Amino acid sequence: MAPTPTPSSTEVAAADAHFRTLVCELCAQLFTTGAATGTGGGMCVLEGGRLYVAPSGVPKERIAPADVFVVSPADAYAVVVPPASRGLSLSACLPLFALAIERRGAGAVVHSHSVAAVMAGLLAVRPVGAADGGVRGGVTEVFQVSHLEMLKGLWWGGRDAAADARLAEGGGGKPPGGRHGRFGYEDTLTIPVIRNTPYESQLVTGMADAMDAYPDAPAVMVKRHGVYVWGGGWAAAKGANECLEFLFEVATRMQAAGMGLVGGDK
Ligand code: ZN
Repeated sequence: MAPTPTPSSTEVAAADAHFRTLVCELCAQLFTTGAATGTGGGMCVLEGGRLYVAPSGVPKERIAPADVFVVSPADAYAVVVPPASRGLSLSACLPLFALAIERRGAGAVVHSHSVAAVMAGLLAVRPVGAADGGVRGGVTEVFQVSHLEMLKGLWWGGRDAAADARLAEGGGGKPPGGRHGRFGYEDTLTIPVIRNTPYESQLVTGMADAMDAYPDAPAVMVKRHGVYVWGGGWAAAKGANECLEFLFEVATRMQAAGMGLVGGDK
């Protein structure tokens, strides 16, 4: 196969402008849906070996393209930094985003602080089964739901074709997990819920262990905090986050109504 041509500096600049603008637009949408209010939440997009990351601790709906960091995903080195006068810092979520990129081939990651994600993590969880000794990869609780149409918007492990191709390119061999493709209506979605920590960066070990223990999970929830969800590209990650938002909301309402979350109508 012919080697991939190296893009010109003009092409890189044009791609940078496009993806910086895209991150701003997507962050504004996350704010509107309640996923990134109060400076919380965030997202990143990986394209052309460059990771476009929203800055930390600022109103996500007001960031400008020049505020978006461009990072080398291999070593988290910021290759393009916003002007010092802007006083911006790189997202504290970066090591968490990196886990989804490395282990799931993610091309985009969304971090949501939504009410639905927090309430589902409090009310719509069940203990890890006795078969796993009540704990699996450090995880003691999971969010589980089945028989809901919006499950079809999710991929096992958050790995669509683009993610699988990225894992193969990286020499990762066979993608992790036992299931592939989209979830079906009757499938049971299981998302590990990890404990929150005082600082975002301290979530890395818990999230890594949870991802290893639940390779088919398309997201990791953080108790009293929110959720990390990913996809092979920005549209897949955005769509998965929206499907999860729906499922979190419905599951919480079903729980409040005394309905079981798994098994459908019996
Ligand atoms: Zn957070």
